[in-house]
Amino acid sequence: MRAIVIGSGAGSLASALRLRALGHEVDVLEACPDPGGRAREFSFHGHSFDAGPTVITAPWLFDELFELFGERRADSVEFLPCDPWYRLLYADGSEMDLVPSVERQEAEIARLSPRDASRYRGYLEHSKELYRVGYEQLGDADFSSVTSMLKMMPKLLQLGGFSTLWRHTARYFSDRRVRQAFSLPPLLVGGNPLTTTAIYGLIHAMERKGGIWFAKGGTSALITQLVALGQRHGIRYHFGHKVVSLSTDTAQRVTSVEAAHRGEQVVFPCDMAVWGGDPRALYATLGSSRLSLVERIRERTTSSSMGLFVLYFKTKRRYPEVAHHTIVLSERWEGLLRDIFKGRKLPKDPSLYLHRPAATDPSMAVDDGELFYVLAPVPHLGNYNDWNLDANRFTKTVVDILSERVLPGLSTELDFTESIDPRYFRDTLSSPLGAGFSIAPILSQSAWFRFHNRMDKIPNLYLCGAGVHPGGGLPGVVTSAKVVERLITRDFPSLQPSQTSIKDIIARTAA
Ligand SMILES: Cc1cc2nc3c(=O)[nH]c(=O)nc-3n(C[C@H](O)[C@H](O)[C@H](O)COP(=O)(O)OP(=O)(O)OC[C@H]3O[C@@H](n4cnc5c(N)ncnc54)[C@H](O)[C@@H]3O)c2cc1C
Repeated sequence: MRAIVIGSGAGSLASALRLRALGHEVDVLEACPDPGGRAREFSFHGHSFDAGPTVITAPWLFDELFELFGERRADSVEFLPCDPWYRLLYADGSEMDLVPSVERQEAEIARLSPRDASRYRGYLEHSKELYRVGYEQLGDADFSSVTSMLKMMPKLLQLGGFSTLWRHTARYFSDRRVRQAFSLPPLLVGGNPLTTTAIYGLIHAMERKGGIWFAKGGTSALITQLVALGQRHGIRYHFGHKVVSLSTDTAQRVTSVEAAHRGEQVVFPCDMAVWGGDPRALYATLGSSRLSLVERIRERTTSSSMGLFVLYFKTKRRYPEVAHHTIVLSERWEGLLRDIFKGRKLPKDPSLYLHRPAATDPSMAVDDGELFYVLAPVPHLGNYNDWNLDANRFTKTVVDILSERVLPGLSTELDFTESIDPRYFRDTLSSPLGAGFSIAPILSQSAWFRFHNRMDKIPNLYLCGAGVHPGGGLPGVVTSAKVVERLITRDFPSLQPSQTSIKDIIARTAA
């Protein structure tokens, strides 16, 4: 059977590989001229930059994609361990590292608050429990029926999953800085720690279990190798093909996908299709007559993740003292988060994430200088849209903060800067409102409430990627491909699933 996968983000690449491993003919259609979506590679002034993701958690999810074809991921791309995982710089001048060892982590917390250090193991145990339920049991579950979710409700209730992560951290930690450190994970997938469900505390346990890694040569090297893996096994990739419509027959099954390519329309007949772009864009492409009532309600009521401003730059000198993943926290917390998620102007004091790849992969330093990117969460375009006026001013704000707090003298050490803002996410990646991470990861948009992995009225049209279950971030979108595989295997019973459950894979990887 012929499957068309739309988009080449990490979720789509994983779906394409899984469908190929099941024996389908697979074509991938991507609007951009190159693969990766948010994880694509930018080239500025002859230098390569990872556009988006830099942190790899749950590495087994990538290993498994290679194993589907009897290959080893490590033979194609090496994962380098990060240590520290993150360095947090607080506005009062104090610092804390998040680190790979539990003992060192306690010592790090103790520097800020000895009492909180003694409570860290309790927090970790709770995170592990959230991980067991929220990820191992629910991560690759199919939430197309509401009953599947209701079954898990009591357990999630018992684990405090209906509280927010910010409140949850207060059960263990009293020092505000420690609470901030353990409330950051939702921000990394587009959620507000003040409102995002405490289930996201599972990310900490996932990091403890699988570590934090950086792909040698950058995340784009991983994307290149996923595409190469597909090519070796017969997947066809079509870049510069933007899908503009999907045709359905009288039984409401997709029969072909139409893409615009260099001013022409190219038709790809198919037996099934997988959409890996933003689900809101799919719903708009299909039109409301092909949506169920629930889907139409979901389309109207969904709230977006925040936007992102990312500044890519090269320095004339090196900064060996700076950690790979440095988080520069503003003095404001609640107020700043409100400004990002509800505000209608750019913050003057953004918190920043600084990526210095040469810290983990020295081969990524260039000449006498280094390549960096710095990311600031900002309002999405529905709340703020004056980037034409403000992009330069905001660049200066960001460079000034970095000069003062992390990279001394940066303004005079810059070789060049380039930036993207929510307009890029809207115009190039077709993400409504220029959302950095598709839809927001809140309880009312999780599991059954999130966009489903299969359309209600079009039974052979599946969805993967950040906007659908289980959610954004590389582990989430690669797991969404497992859900798609599960559904397709059920819908087309002659095909066997390539894996059974995440638990089995973890057990096998550990063995
Ligand atoms: C700056 C940044 C930093 C991040 N850092 C991390 C990190 O460190 N670790 C982590 O785990 N996650 C991180 N994330 C999140 C992670 O990158 C995303 O959740 C994930 O990559 C999204 O994958 P996806 O499968 O949803 O597809 P996307 O990457 O969103 O790609 C979708 C693709 O579909 C294409 N498309 C859309 N519409 C069409 C159409 N009509 N026709 C054809 N093609 C179409 C788009 O062009 C795009 O290429 C980061 C994200 C950003 C933006």
